[in-house]
This record gives sequence, structure tokens and C-alpha cells, in this order.
Amino acid sequence: MSISTEVIPICALQDNYIWMFMDAMTRMAWIIDPGDAKPVLEALEKYNLQLSGIFITHHHHDHSGGVKDLLRKYSSIPVYGSYLSPLSFITDRIKEGDEISCSNIILKAIEIPGHTLDHTAYVGNHWLFSGDTLFSIGCGKIFEGTADQMYRSLQKLSALADETKVFCGHEYTLANLRFAEHIEPDNASIKEKIRVITKPTLPSTIAEEKKLNPFLRCKDAAIIKAVENYANQTLDTPVKVFAKLREWKNGLNTQWRHLKK
Ligand SMILES: [Zn+2]
Repeated sequence: MSISTEVIPICALQDNYIWMFMDAMTRMAWIIDPGDAKPVLEALEKYNLQLSGIFITHHHHDHSGGVKDLLRKYSSIPVYGSYLSPLSFITDRIKEGDEISCSNIILKAIEIPGHTLDHTAYVGNHWLFSGDTLFSIGCGKIFEGTADQMYRSLQKLSALADETKVFCGHEYTLANLRFAEHIEPDNASIKEKIRVITKPTLPSTIAEEKKLNPFLRCKDAAIIKAVENYANQTLDTPVKVFAKLREWKNGLNTQWRHLKK
């Protein structure tokens, strides 16, 4: 058996990505965050695959709304999700460090609360499925957790190997880059990235996120200075910088309607 090195994006809803990987020999496939069943069923048919398991990063409907319809066709497959998840259809409730075998690869669960309390990332084979916690050049909104939890969760992800490919839940990269440019108008790497960007922009890598993502750079002098200017106060810890940065982006989201999360 051999897992294909490719992770296939399935575009769903307005700007969600459902990710799929497969065992090319056995034609088994696994998906992450099916917000909608239809595009998944179409992709399974197109690639001649049998669905063998579903991973859920968090309980939001745009990441899980397709599960019930998929289970109508694939009634006996496991649905992996957090032990804290309110979703009743999760069959295998997992916690930090649990390992799930998919053919010859193993995905490990990492608890990353903040966006929601049940938020879980899956990492293995140099892939990271980060849901709505780490986006390319951005991070998710804090709906259920605290800024402190979200900051720690992002730090956990940024500690993964540099070459780890980041598969996140939404295509927000360009909007996130515009925010990054707003914070650091003189950052040449950000300007260059905006110039060369093409969709889909994913996967990103942990190395690139550490270079470009302001939410992972709350100890950088340039970010601290920009956020202190915005907040008009001294911010003496990275968590305080992070909390104000997230607040800054929330404020701009209302002004710039195209910047959604
Ligand atoms: Zn979400």
C-alpha cells in the first residue's frame, strides 16, 4: 500500500477547502472537514475512490455540514473529532497525541483551542491540516477561547518542522496579505508575495508562515512597533501583542468587507 504524496483540494461553499488524500493502490480515501457532501462525492467518483474516513477539525457547520449525507452512502466509516466536540456523529473521539492510521501513514492529533474549544489539528507525513486556526498569512477569529489559548495554539503549530505543508480551511491568503501589508508597508517579502500570488495559494509551509504571518511573529520588533502604534500603549508580552493584532484585524474586517476572517 502506498499513500499518494498529493493532497487534493476540493473547493466547497464560498471559500472552504475540503482536503482529500488517498492510497493509490487500494483506492481508499480520507477527507478533512467536509462542509458539503456533493463536491466530495463528485471527487470520489472522478478519482475512482472509496471514502474510508473523515477528519473534523472543529464543529463549525462549514467544516462538518456534509458528514450526515456522506454517512448515508458510507455508513460504517470512522468520523474522527475532538472529545470536546458537540457533534453527535463523531465515532472516534480523540485528544492530544492520539494517532490515527490511514493505510501506511499516521496522523497525530494536536489540540489547538481558540477559534473553538474543540479545535484539533492533524499532522503527519509532513502535512498539517490546520482548520480555522492557522491560515496562510493569518489566523482564525477567536470565537470560544481566549487570546492566550489561540496564541499558544499557533505557537504549537509554528514549532512543527519548517517543511511541513499547511493545508488550512479557507482561501483567505490574498486578503490576509493585504492586512500584513497594512501592518508592515515596508516589508519587501510581503509585497513580492502579493505580486506573485496565484490561486489556489495552498499548501503553504510552516517556514513561509514563520516568515510572513504576522500572527506568528508577535516577538518581532517591526510587528510589536506597529501594533503598539495601533493600540497607543506599550505591549510587554507576545500574547498582548497577539490579542491587539487580532483586535486590529477584526476592526478592519468591518471596514474592508472583503476581509472576512
Ligand atoms: Zn470555523
